[in-house]
Amino acid sequence: MTDPKDAASPRSRDSSWHSMAVDEAAASLKTSRQGLSRNEVARRLDEYGPNQLEEEPQQTVAALILHQFRSPLIYILVIAAIVTLALEEYIDVAVITAVLVLNAVIGFTQERKAETSVRSLIRMSAPHARVIRDGSEHDIESRELVPGDLVLIESGSRVPADLRLTSTTALQIDESAFTGESDAVQKQADPIGDSAVLADRTNMAFAGTAVASGRGRGYVVSTGERTQIGGIASQVRSEVRLSTPLQQKMARFASAIGVAVGASALLAFAIGIVRGESGSDMFMVAVTLAVAAIPEGLPVVSTITLAVGVRRMANRNAIIRRLPAVETLGSTTCIGSDKTGTLTENRMTVTSIWSGGQVFDVSSESKDGITPEDPNYLTLLAGVLSNEAAVAQTDHGWETQGDPTEAALLIAATHLGMEPEEIRDAYHIVAEIPFEPDRQFAASYRENEGKRQVYVKGAPERLVQMSSSMLQNGREVPLDENSVHTAADDLASQGLRVLAMAYREIPADHDLFEGTDEPHGLVLVGMQGMMDPPREGVRDAITACNDAGIRVVMVTGDHAATARSIGHDLGISDSSSKVLTGADLANMEEADLRSAVHDVAIYARVAPDQKLRVVRALQSEGDVVAVTGDGVNDAPALKAADIGVAMGRSGTDVAREAADMVLSDDNFVSIVAAVEEGRITFDNVRKASFFLIGTGAATVLTIIAALVAGWPIPFLPAQMLWLNLVTNGLQDVALAFEPGDEGILQRRPRPRREGVISRLLWERTVIVALVLAAGTLALFKWELDRSGSLALAQTVALTTMVVFQAFQAGNARSETRSLFRMSPFSNRLLIGSTVVALAVHVGALYWGPTQTILRVEPIDAGSWVRIVLVASTILAASELHKFLRRRYPIESLELKTTATESAPGTGWC
Ligand code: ADP
Ligand code: MG
Repeated sequence: MTDPKDAASPRSRDSSWHSMAVDEAAASLKTSRQGLSRNEVARRLDEYGPNQLEEEPQQTVAALILHQFRSPLIYILVIAAIVTLALEEYIDVAVITAVLVLNAVIGFTQERKAETSVRSLIRMSAPHARVIRDGSEHDIESRELVPGDLVLIESGSRVPADLRLTSTTALQIDESAFTGESDAVQKQADPIGDSAVLADRTNMAFAGTAVASGRGRGYVVSTGERTQIGGIASQVRSEVRLSTPLQQKMARFASAIGVAVGASALLAFAIGIVRGESGSDMFMVAVTLAVAAIPEGLPVVSTITLAVGVRRMANRNAIIRRLPAVETLGSTTCIGSDKTGTLTENRMTVTSIWSGGQVFDVSSESKDGITPEDPNYLTLLAGVLSNEAAVAQTDHGWETQGDPTEAALLIAATHLGMEPEEIRDAYHIVAEIPFEPDRQFAASYRENEGKRQVYVKGAPERLVQMSSSMLQNGREVPLDENSVHTAADDLASQGLRVLAMAYREIPADHDLFEGTDEPHGLVLVGMQGMMDPPREGVRDAITACNDAGIRVVMVTGDHAATARSIGHDLGISDSSSKVLTGADLANMEEADLRSAVHDVAIYARVAPDQKLRVVRALQSEGDVVAVTGDGVNDAPALKAADIGVAMGRSGTDVAREAADMVLSDDNFVSIVAAVEEGRITFDNVRKASFFLIGTGAATVLTIIAALVAGWPIPFLPAQMLWLNLVTNGLQDVALAFEPGDEGILQRRPRPRREGVISRLLWERTVIVALVLAAGTLALFKWELDRSGSLALAQTVALTTMVVFQAFQAGNARSETRSLFRMSPFSNRLLIGSTVVALAVHVGALYWGPTQTILRVEPIDAGSWVRIVLVASTILAASELHKFLRRRYPIESLELKTTATESAPGTGWC
């Protein structure tokens, strides 16, 4: 990072681009209105480097390693090492120390890996920029920009580099991140005095600021660290920290285990002393117990599971920008989705034109050379002129640029024999008001053969307000609002998006804007209705949401009737569900809104700030809300939502930065996929936790039971570490890759506050502890009596535990589903790791060094048979428990108790 003082120094940054004329600036940048050539771009990229700020330094290695030791579980191991040292049990000291180091190394590398992979995913949603190069428009990553590039910006763009503006259309830029001034600054392209301070350089756009409204273009004057912001403020950066609510939960959970371990170690110690055992023996037992009970792998496995979840979501087109979203997704109860582009394809085709009382079916007829006398002429003309898009007919159909709504109008006009490009050339642009969602119209002031007109298109309700007359059968008559609304409703209820067109002559002696910023006194000439087919798969995804206890509502800027018709087609609304419009919302108190949100399925004609109100109302009714947004003004709603979802293709930079998740295909289906993966991720953390906790509980119980019975202790500390880390360690990581239960979208959303280990899992843990302890103790005692060798009996006890785990790994795959109903191959990693764990263990029984460290010896075939038979009982016990719980689910008991006390509506959306 450069020194801030340096940033303000005249030499490094404050070149006087603002005082130059546009052509002068272009000349000194050696560029032109055609933009740079490809070769020149490559050369400049070499010279100036990529357009990016240096990344914040990642956590230092030392800090990250130290972090691995900051866990109550590790503290206990350290104490255990010290105690063992005092007891002069050097092998165990060495093993425990090795484990401490190993644990830190694994934790460190896994966290690093997870962080890197999350970082690279976040880069996938890196900002893009539109540039003119070689005379045509391209979409590139902002980091590829070089000085001299001609960049296009529009509302919602994050300005990608410092620009000298060359043209602007109602361009307003929010420079608050930069100057602290919260009002957006009006920009223009004329040169300004050399002495102007940054805030007054209205012909410049600075990297990192955001376009609040309008359009503009400008030459890049500096990139990367050489931009004004490069030296000063830090840009909005994505959060990569791996601390999520889930991991905090895991940390609390680990502390609780730590306390339990400490307590049971003390208990064991006390029991032993009461029974007259020696103090040093009992210290050793306490150490064994502590080491046995600690699930060393837990923190690592939860990190890995999260990283796996993030990657899987990315494969299904949902890019996570903030990690806590992974978990929140699994608890989502309500999805508020845009209509256009998310539920529908945003591929518009004009099908009907209403011009002064008659409806014209575009698809059925085509004309060549429509004449100005045609009743539809003015409607089409206004659609062509108040339009920023461009279309071209190619061999493969239409190629379009810009807003699909606008492109459709151009295609319709062409289809009926007009030539949009020629018309646009004949009518010179004088001024423009570009479309913004909260404005709901676009206007273009034109001059043709010495006469000036304004052409407007937009939402019919909006244009009615701006018009005073209309055309009817070719004659201008006073505006009949009702007939316009009826006609608009008619088209809209067929699911069409309806835009009205209007125009007006502006007498030569009139000021263009007549002192207002909005055209008025217009002649409404007609309307065009366009079809936008639903996206494939959306209907099914909505059905899936309903099954999953997730309500889907539509939040759109479009007409209520259009929204209702499409909502009906997609299964979002039925005849009984309510539609609220922006106008309704404006007249509603907070309390009314809160009670209304329960049965509203569609919010139509909603302005972006109203979207925020809807999100808040849903949240205060207990919903966990995911909401989509694409415009600059959607950012507050995206931030307020539990899951803000932005569009990777059509959305703006500002919306993407505010979002928790970005859809790389803009598709509603991907939201549902992410919800599913969110549920799977949390499930997998649970599975791995259960697997580890079960082992811990079983070994503790075994040790305590042996103590109480007055038998020798069946395990040694080193053996417990072997079990927990080596054999278990492989399998619990494999559980992170579980594909997820089939019925995962048939369950209700998980309450957000629900802990890692649910009541069901506690139940299963107790069963596991009992069965494993009983089986292990039985074989241990049998072997001890038979051979009289403690070492052999301990080997058998350890091996029994290891084989038990092989079955347990399978049992852990689902909380209620029978293992036999799952494909064994849906998680090959688990099979592989189980085989490896067993093989490694067998190897350890025969290999000299491990024999010494673990104090184990080979066991004979008879013992193996007994071990496998005994170990398989956990499979039977687990299956029996699952069977019973499928019959008598816990949820039904819990629902009964919560239903009576819960607030209304918390269960549903
Ligand atoms: P949504 O994306 O939810 O469909 P928008 O906010 O994009 O809604 O549009 C709201 C309304 O503004 C539309 O119903 C239409 O009447 C009008 N509109 C949309 N796009 C344009 C445009 N390019 N020019 C003029 N009006 C538009
Ligand atoms: Mg839109």
